[in-house]
Amino acid sequence: MPEGNEVHRYAEIHARAFAGKTVRVDSPTGKCPDAAILNGRTLRRVQAVGKHLGYVFGKDLTLHVHLGRFGEFTEGPMPLRPVKGALRLRIWTQKDWLELRGATDCSIFADDKWAALLARLGPDPLRKDADPAPAFAVMRERKTPIGALLMDQSVIAGIGNIYRAELLYRAGIHPRRPGNEVDEKTLKAIWKDAIALMPGGMVDRRIVTTRPKHRPHPKGVAQDGEVHYVYHRTGKPCWVCGSKVERGEMAGRTAYWCPTCQKD
Ligand SMILES: [Zn+2]
Repeated sequence: MPEGNEVHRYAEIHARAFAGKTVRVDSPTGKCPDAAILNGRTLRRVQAVGKHLGYVFGKDLTLHVHLGRFGEFTEGPMPLRPVKGALRLRIWTQKDWLELRGATDCSIFADDKWAALLARLGPDPLRKDADPAPAFAVMRERKTPIGALLMDQSVIAGIGNIYRAELLYRAGIHPRRPGNEVDEKTLKAIWKDAIALMPGGMVDRRIVTTRPKHRPHPKGVAQDGEVHYVYHRTGKPCWVCGSKVERGEMAGRTAYWCPTCQKD
């Protein structure tokens, strides 16, 4: 599933190619019936919040896209490619096209529906206007494991499974620790770390969370097997202490941790 950083990256790429332009829109499979309403209109801007994208075409005309676990975009220069697979939506100009497949939602939101979505989401560390205080307040009073709270989009928006695993490792906190046993200083540090780490994931399409000094090959760019501390490293030795990385189910997704570096 794309994490917030990837969703924000799509917003940037799509705004660069299509914002301010009159675009053609269609839905080859008919799975985005609203496409016809948008065809021939000007895309004003693209916004991202958490894992949601909004393509603003005007008042009460925001195309909402939620990629879910299997949604993905492809982009390229014209001409359009032959229609293949479950192609839900296409947007194009004379110069560029994008294709959307597998998203969980692709429909027009009126402005009040978009506002209601924003109100349901917690602060997004990738947005400069985000205020983390409400997220800290919720986490500080809940007995829910911090690993589940970080994935709860109504508490904090945009963090997925990779960042959950890696932010908690870097903070030295076990994902099972209850939210109300994580002090505010640590929550602030996790938030700051998210702001520092997540935009990096937008640059080279890989999410790199290891510090050079902890990698077996500390010089140069991170090698593929050395980009994470614990995510997808079950049974492998922790780069820092050598303990075997463990995993368990949490909030419907697998959580990973180092039993030594991360305190319960
Ligand atoms: Zn360790």
